[in-house]
Amino acid sequence: MSRKPFIAGNWKMNMTAASGKKLIEELKPLVKNANCDVALCVPAILIPEMVKAAKGSNIKIGAENIHWAPSGAFTGEISAEMLKEYGVEYAIIGHSERRQYFGETDETVNKRLHAALNAGITPIVCVGETLSERENGTTNEVLDRQLSVGLAGVEDIKKIVIAYEPVWAIGTGKTATDEQAQETIAHIRKKIGELFCPNCAQKVIIQYGGSMNAKNCKGLMAQPDIDGGLIGGASLKIDFATIVNFDK
Ligand code: PEP
Repeated sequence: MSRKPFIAGNWKMNMTAASGKKLIEELKPLVKNANCDVALCVPAILIPEMVKAAKGSNIKIGAENIHWAPSGAFTGEISAEMLKEYGVEYAIIGHSERRQYFGETDETVNKRLHAALNAGITPIVCVGETLSERENGTTNEVLDRQLSVGLAGVEDIKKIVIAYEPVWAIGTGKTATDEQAQETIAHIRKKIGELFCPNCAQKVIIQYGGSMNAKNCKGLMAQPDIDGGLIGGASLKIDFATIVNFDK
């Protein structure tokens, strides 16, 4: 089953309009012959400028979050429709930093991803276990809960991208080994098969995220169930192009 790899960056709360534009200009020629889909998820305020900067290239722009309501009294939030209007094609949903610092739950992940789908934005749904969950052997149980609650009511699972991000590997420099990432992502694919259908699960793009960089990307990308990466720190640098060109 061939799935087109997908490499996405997550700038988090980094970059300015000027530094973001400069990086995109530098990346454009370096990633133009990529054999994968490419996106950069950027802070909301930078979206209009980054969409302009990426115009005419194969770099798509994504958001880092989305609110579930179409409009209303939600001070400080941004709706899917507002993001779509500015050319956003992807949105990260349920990143572990949002779960940890902003009270995101599997239920709010589910509401946000439906809002994204309704607006025609592809959700990149983040799942992953903490260090203590891995150490006490509950990784699969945690992932099963995140997937069954988080993805409830999805009609076409192929429209969702999953990012497996072990919390202990995000921003720590500690990457999951190729084998750990493969084994856990194979479990995620199996669970999606049970929740939806085995055949559809084979078509779902599942990324690995957690200290993925220009050095370790080849080994991770060589794993049969790993279809791409969600890249934090390394997406702020020209190294992002090396990851996008992992197969060259
Ligand atoms: C992330 O923020 O999704 C991430 C994987 O970060 P990093 O690559 O810096 O670990």
